[in-house]
Amino acid sequence: MKVKENISLKTFNTFGIDARAKYFISFDSLEAIREIVESDLYINEQQSLVLGGGSNILFTKNFDGIVLKNDLKGIECIKEDDENYYVKAAAGEGWHQFVLHCLEHNYAGVENLSLIPGNVGASPMQNIGAYGVEIKDVFHSLKAFHKRDKTIAEFFKNDCAFGYRESVFKNKYKNDFIILNVTYKLRKKPVFHTEYGAIEMELKNMNVQELNIQNISQAVINIRKAKLPDPAVIGNAGSFFKNPVITKTQYELLKNEFPAIVAHPFNDEVKLAAAWLIETCGWKGYRLGDAGCHENQALVLVNYGHAKGNEIFELSQKIVESVQSAFGITLEREVNIY
Ligand code: FAD
Ligand code: NAP
Repeated sequence: MKVKENISLKTFNTFGIDARAKYFISFDSLEAIREIVESDLYINEQQSLVLGGGSNILFTKNFDGIVLKNDLKGIECIKEDDENYYVKAAAGEGWHQFVLHCLEHNYAGVENLSLIPGNVGASPMQNIGAYGVEIKDVFHSLKAFHKRDKTIAEFFKNDCAFGYRESVFKNKYKNDFIILNVTYKLRKKPVFHTEYGAIEMELKNMNVQELNIQNISQAVINIRKAKLPDPAVIGNAGSFFKNPVITKTQYELLKNEFPAIVAHPFNDEVKLAAAWLIETCGWKGYRLGDAGCHENQALVLVNYGHAKGNEIFELSQKIVESVQSAFGITLEREVNIY
């Protein structure tokens, strides 16, 4: 077990926040995990944090415990039937590398989720989603190590309470488990999801005649590269807030008062575009020191260089308060705060 002490996490989180970890240990096997949780350094669940790609985390202070860097690797198709491939990926695999593997083998279902940063192990955490597809649509099961009981549990779809950017791992079991691997149920015959306008437009630009999972993935990659700030250039963790989901009645009242409000149907409710609420409150392009609200994407908070985590958090708090006061809507943070 190789322990690093008092190290900077700046290169381990896409916000580029210079918080420090008391201890930092990488693991690439179950044995290594057991060694860590049985060592004298390990205190409890709350003082240990599993880190994937650090693309959905904001460190507001130094981490007074062990950061466990996940390096578990391996992807294999473990089973197939007439309709599906069951593909198991280790939690430390890069998410986009996994998507590329699926494209190469014609496993359909994750093409709309191309180029999402981070690791496989975090994909069920917030039921990652983009362009009309969520992990729950392809999720079969996962195995996870319980840090306190030191046992391995298997979770199937119904055990995970997947919701909009939510799961049992982000709430009820926060910090309890280390996700070891995830098995996805991918289709042999693809079902295409091109209902998000940007995809249709990009497929036209690309002059695509016949749809397949490879060109949908390429369309998503093109849109994301053009629209989203690259964390390698400007620190960010993607959407900082979730899109609020409200009842139809609440929506009708808001729509009367704010006819330009942007919203989409969401099951029996309505999903508001948080970016519109934030932009309408005047935050888009706002900057105080090195903490800011991105100039093209109001939902994305950014670190222009040397912002501290608590400066980004304070900015997020001001945004929450102003949206609350203007629209009576409480924005929820999507990013995990530590
Ligand atoms: P981390 O940030 O390392 O961790 C996030 C949380 O999960 C932490 O609480 C951590 O402790 C926990 N965790 C991580 N791995 C494990 C594990 N193996 N076991 C237990 N707990 C674990 N998200 C979307 O849903 N859709 C998008 O389209 C999207 N686009 C993005 C675009 C950009 C530019 C950026 C920067 C982020 C975007 N995100 C998006 C957010 C982020 O990429 C995803 O949430 C991603 O799944 C986070 O993965 P990660 O490995 O970086 O997780
Ligand atoms: P966009 O296409 O400009 O759309 C703005 C918002 O409207 C999105 O948040 C999306 O909700 C919603 N929307 C648009 N078309 C919709 C439709 N046909 N049906 C239902 N909802 C619709 O958004 P964007 O910022 O460029 O992002 C594109 C996609 O990538 C979105 O799915 C977004 O969630 C995802 N993304 C996520 C993150 C993150 O960190 N979580 C970061 C960047 C991009 P949804 O968000 O519910 O899809």
